[in-house]
Amino acid sequence: MVIIIGAGPIGLACGIALREKGIPFLIIEKGCLVNSVFNYPTNMIFFSTSDRLEIGGVPFISHGAKATRREALEYYRRIKESFRLPVNVYEEVHGIEGEDGNFKVSTSKGVYRAEKVIIATGFFDTPNLMNVPGEGLPKVKHYYDEPHPYAGMCVLVVGGGNSAVDVALETYRCGCTVTLAVREPDLKEGIKYWVRPDIENRIKEGSIKAWFNTEVKEIREDEVDLLTPEGPVTIKNDFVLAMTGYRPRLDFLERIGVPLLDDDHLTPVFDAETMESGKKGIYLAGVVCGGMNTSKWFIENSIEHAERIANHMVGK
Ligand code: FAD
Repeated sequence: MVIIIGAGPIGLACGIALREKGIPFLIIEKGCLVNSVFNYPTNMIFFSTSDRLEIGGVPFISHGAKATRREALEYYRRIKESFRLPVNVYEEVHGIEGEDGNFKVSTSKGVYRAEKVIIATGFFDTPNLMNVPGEGLPKVKHYYDEPHPYAGMCVLVVGGGNSAVDVALETYRCGCTVTLAVREPDLKEGIKYWVRPDIENRIKEGSIKAWFNTEVKEIREDEVDLLTPEGPVTIKNDFVLAMTGYRPRLDFLERIGVPLLDDDHLTPVFDAETMESGKKGIYLAGVVCGGMNTSKWFIENSIEHAERIANHMVGK
């Protein structure tokens, strides 16, 4: 029996790959099916075309050029149903003890025995904090769903990636006064090509005030202090939407015995051919493999982890 932790796209792909090899398995998921995708912004559009998000060879048809979050939720629900994947939802894995061939997996609901374990836990559970005074105020959000609650408010969006840009544009169009604070000198290179002209033009015309090379210094109930290239600036503020990225639960990996490299990204140790981690019998799959480097692996390029793991388990 193999336990797969996480019912994200890659956890599901692992289940399908094991099924094809006749290996019994159970997927354990702490939230709902594809919990991370569910928690993406409501109106999120993938940068991948839908065919790149396919698993199990099942066509994913989207209405536009790119898949929406809603279409992805329906697609992965259908995947689970049509392959009859055994998924225990709303059950969190707390720990793994034991050795290859005889693991004890403890969850919020019980204890399971497993010969092998696959960790497909993604990176969406732990936001990167700014570590500034006031970050714990209720008005500071590290997850964003939709713009309506912020309508008419003064909003500071922090970050220079796709999430920050999407949030800045959506809240601006919902009648917010939007300031964008970007730590780097520019927006990230990977901004969705169809979104880039929109944000650049809104910044150029002054509809969205963007500060580059800028850090948030302190957040208070009605104001935020920024350190900009022009010196300290205090702005009026109702909400801070910190789109500063996420990181995998590296503490969980360490606790279960998966070593991390001493590199910039704290990359978990694994064999790229087999996906077996530095702890024998425990495999890594999906975006968790990148450690802090969350732009290395996507759904698109980590689907193949599933096949590598299944092949190794049957001794190929
Ligand atoms: P996840 O989908 O994150 O799945 C991990 C699962 O494990 C979650 O459901 C989580 O609840 C569960 N879990 C975690 N810990 C436990 C535990 N202890 N016990 C039980 N369950 C647990 N990639 C692309 O290829 N194309 C895109 O267009 C794209 N757009 C993205 C947009 C956003 C906003 C974000 C944040 C990411 C995007 N990605 C995209 C990146 C990445 O591919 C996705 O995050 C994808 O969901 C990763 O799949 P995964 O299965 O590895 O992890």
